[in-house]
Amino acid sequence: MSPSPGTRRHLLVHRYGDPEARPKAYIQTALHADEWPGLLVLQKLIPMLDEADAEGGIRGQVVVVPFANPIGLSQRIGGHVPGRYDLDGSGNFNRNWPDLSAAAAERLAGTLTGDAAQDVAAVRAALRSAAADLPRRTSNQELRAVILGLSIDADFVLDVHCDSEALLHTYANVRHRDLLAALAAELGSPVNLLELEAGGGAFDESNALPWWKIPEHLEEPVALPPACFGVTVELRGQSDVLETYADADAKALFRFLQRQGIVAGDPGPLPDLPNPPSPLDAMDLVATPRAGILGYHKEVGDMIRTGEVIATLYDPEALDPVAARLDLKAGTDGILLSRFRDKLAVAGDRIAKIAGSESLSYRKAGALLED
Ligand SMILES: [Zn+2]
Repeated sequence: MSPSPGTRRHLLVHRYGDPEARPKAYIQTALHADEWPGLLVLQKLIPMLDEADAEGGIRGQVVVVPFANPIGLSQRIGGHVPGRYDLDGSGNFNRNWPDLSAAAAERLAGTLTGDAAQDVAAVRAALRSAAADLPRRTSNQELRAVILGLSIDADFVLDVHCDSEALLHTYANVRHRDLLAALAAELGSPVNLLELEAGGGAFDESNALPWWKIPEHLEEPVALPPACFGVTVELRGQSDVLETYADADAKALFRFLQRQGIVAGDPGPLPDLPNPPSPLDAMDLVATPRAGILGYHKEVGDMIRTGEVIATLYDPEALDPVAARLDLKAGTDGILLSRFRDKLAVAGDRIAKIAGSESLSYRKAGALLED
C-alpha cells in the first residue's frame, strides 16, 4: 500500500523452479532493516541460482527475497538507518509474527487422513489460506502477510540477520537439531542455539511452529512431522560486510540447497561442525544495571569462565570516576558470542551474550529472545 501520497514500496522476489516442485526453500534477509551482511550475501547467491537455473539444475524451488523490509530501509534518520523497530509503534520487526496454527486447524478439521504425504500437502494448503487471510490494515501488517504468503509452505525457511558485533551463529528449534547441524557445518558456524520454545514470535518460529501446534487445536489425534525447518542465521556483526565473508557464505548456502536436493550438483563432503549445538537457555546475557560507557576486556570469540570480567562500565556522571567503575561479569562458562557495538549503554542493555552449555535458571523457556 502507499504509505504516504506520492510514495510506493515494493518487494523484489526471485523465484526458481516449478512452483509445485519440492522441496521448497525460502531465503530472505535484513528483516530488521539495518543488517548489511545478508544484503551482500544474497547478491552473491542470486547469480549462482541464475546459473543453476539456466543449466536446468533447479530440482525443487527456491524463493529469494533480497531485502525483506522496505519499511525499515526507508526509516532513515539523520543519515542513519536505525532498523529493528517500526517507527509506527508496532514494535520489533522480528517479534509477534502471527501464529497461524489455530486458523489452519480450523480449515483442516476432519480432513486429515493419517497418510503423511497427503496430510503435509493439506496442512501447507491450509497455512497458505490462513496467511492469505491475515489482516492488512497497516503497512507493517501488509508486509507480514505478503512475506508469510511466500514462506509459509516452504520446507526450509532461512531468515538471514546479523548481530551487533558477533560470531556467525544460528537459532532453530530443537526438533530440527540435525538440519541445523547440517546448515551450521556448511557455514562453519561456531555457535548454534537450539530452543524448545523461544517465545517472542520470531519469523522463523512463525513458519516452523504450526507443524507441532496445529494438532493441539484439532479434536482428532494426529501426528504431523516438523515439516518446516525455520532457522535464523546471524551473519556475524553489522560491520562484518566483506567480499570474502559474503563469497564464502553464499557458497555455503548454495551447498546446503544442493545437499537438500533442491539444486543439482555435488556439494562435496560435509565439513565438520565446529562445536555441538547448545541450548538457547544456556546463553548468558550480561546486562547493565545503569547507564555508562563500556570498556570491553574480552573479544568476540574468546572462551570465558564464570565470574570473569567481560567489560567495565564507567559512569560519566560520577564525581569520583574510579570509585564508580563497575565490572560486568560472566554468568556462565562459554564462548563470547556477541558484544554491544554502540559502547554507550543505558540501564538494562544486554552488552554481551555468552553461549554456554548448561541451562541457566534465570533464562525462562518461552522468553528467551531479547526485545
Ligand atoms: Zn535481525
